[in-house]
Amino acid sequence: MRYRQSLIPTLRQDPAEAEVVSHRLLVRAGMIRQVARGIYDFLPLGLRAVRKVEAIVREEMNRAGAQEILMPAICPAELWQESGRWEHYGKELLRIKDRHERDFCFGPTHEEIVTDIVRRELHSYRDLPLNLYQIQTKFRDEVRPRFGLMRGREFIMKDAYSFHADFADCQREYQNMFATYQRIFDRCGLLYRPVEADTGAIGGTLSHEFQVLADSGEDAIVSCDKCDYAANVEKAELARSPESDVQSPKSHATAPLRKVHTPEQRTIDEVATFLGEPRERLVKTLLYVTDTGALVAVLIRGDHELSEAKLKNVLSCQGVALADEAAVVEATGAPLGFAGPLGVKASLIGDWALRGTHGLVCGANERDYHLTGLDQERDLSLLRFADLRQARAGDACPRCQGGVFTAHRGIEVGQTFYLGTKYSTALNATYLDAQGQQHPMEMGCYGIGITRTVAAAIEQHHDGNGIIWPAPLAPVDVYIVPVNWNDAAIRQTAEELYTKLGGAGLEVLLDDRDERPGVKFKDADLLGIPLRVTIGTKTLARGMVELKGRTETQATEIALAEVVATVARAHKGAASA
Ligand code: ATP
Ligand code: MG
Repeated sequence: MRYRQSLIPTLRQDPAEAEVVSHRLLVRAGMIRQVARGIYDFLPLGLRAVRKVEAIVREEMNRAGAQEILMPAICPAELWQESGRWEHYGKELLRIKDRHERDFCFGPTHEEIVTDIVRRELHSYRDLPLNLYQIQTKFRDEVRPRFGLMRGREFIMKDAYSFHADFADCQREYQNMFATYQRIFDRCGLLYRPVEADTGAIGGTLSHEFQVLADSGEDAIVSCDKCDYAANVEKAELARSPESDVQSPKSHATAPLRKVHTPEQRTIDEVATFLGEPRERLVKTLLYVTDTGALVAVLIRGDHELSEAKLKNVLSCQGVALADEAAVVEATGAPLGFAGPLGVKASLIGDWALRGTHGLVCGANERDYHLTGLDQERDLSLLRFADLRQARAGDACPRCQGGVFTAHRGIEVGQTFYLGTKYSTALNATYLDAQGQQHPMEMGCYGIGITRTVAAAIEQHHDGNGIIWPAPLAPVDVYIVPVNWNDAAIRQTAEELYTKLGGAGLEVLLDDRDERPGVKFKDADLLGIPLRVTIGTKTLARGMVELKGRTETQATEIALAEVVATVARAHKGAASA
């Protein structure tokens, strides 16, 4: 690549709209441009990085025995109606009509389409197992597209779907994909963690997310400091031993229930401060509506956070959403901020941490009033309990003795799901066993966000000067800086090295611009190219050039005759690091 013939529109200024590093640097490095909210152009260098991730994913998926196909981006509504997701998927599904007023959607995921292929083409146990994958543009009309490629509306995903005669074989393939994902993210040079996860809109019962560890991650995860248990906080199981309740205010003496005046005190913090009580002695009463329209009052300790994923699973429903103001007023007879469990017109469910507690404060279902002295056993004896809260640092590990959770932020770059027969039953994808009996196929599905992986790599690898690509994802391997393009000797050497390094199989960007060396160095750093070869007047006079790794502070001089071998070695070292 020659700089002057390429489109590499680097910017000196940070783009105002970019909130996270990867977005800022991808725009500044001229790799992406926003076309509409959450929709991007990939310019040459950005696309090269995307293709690097794709190539690794493709190689490893093929190696694992999966076969690449390509399904349509525009999918007919009928298949989505068969699975029931046309109704359930919600507003993220971009629905469109063709000229005949027929309904279609822009596929956000392809379980229905792939199951349709398989039910038409496969009929016998002899045809199984089968794992089909594609690398394709997806569309999800996200509520809050943000952070550049991290949460786009249009993005590239690798999605794979496997079909099996029985559970055991599906488990085997799940492990195969799990190991494949580890190889993929290892090869991408990322620091990541597989964690147990909720299955979300995809459905199914067993799932892992692959989380790239980075402070800017949208996901919160916990991991045990003693064993290898790790999970998304919305999924992480919590130990239910009495010790896990030590923070509960059990020791507080039983008191009578009393109504106290709390004018305009609505939030947990306001009420806690006003009454001089610690937040853990407060009860949050959250009103939720399920997808079937049921109203549920969820009780959770004031210092805890509800996991909507756990709530949805405990209620065995497809989705839950906070009730709107009108519904809260209707159920409590009070404005927002004063809801409580006593007398609320909704079914009640409480988090385990409230079990056996007393001396609590809750809303009185009356404007400007709260109740104190709430005693769970006395006042809420019929309360149904479940594990409803998000895990956090310091919680006891449910899997080992004495382990404690530590908390991390993560970027979900991939997720694996065991789906069971959810889609095969809905779409009637069956096979005949050796005895001629018909069964629904067992399924798994496995996604990787290709474009999000590119962003995650930058979130994890950058410095004040720009991107630091893990070598396997770098758009090019080597950046050649001739300090003066108008110097014939320098130019000739640059051209020779460009040809020779290219001939040695390296991808090279030759900065043939008539720019000051400082500008070229700045751009080389911003673009994050792993190796930089500088050809300067004085060094060249001695038959030498300079080689510098992106993160090195000092360049090393190498003799011209050694350049190709040395650079190739450095590249190999970086690629396998
Ligand atoms: P999230 O929880 O971040 O919304 P998801 O769990 O809905 O993602 P999956 O259905 O598991 O996403 O999709 C598989 C992969 O596709 C994800 O692991 C992620 O890497 C990627 N992905 C999902 N949504 C987006 C998006 N809006 N922008 C970029 N990549 C995405
Ligand atoms: Mg996911």
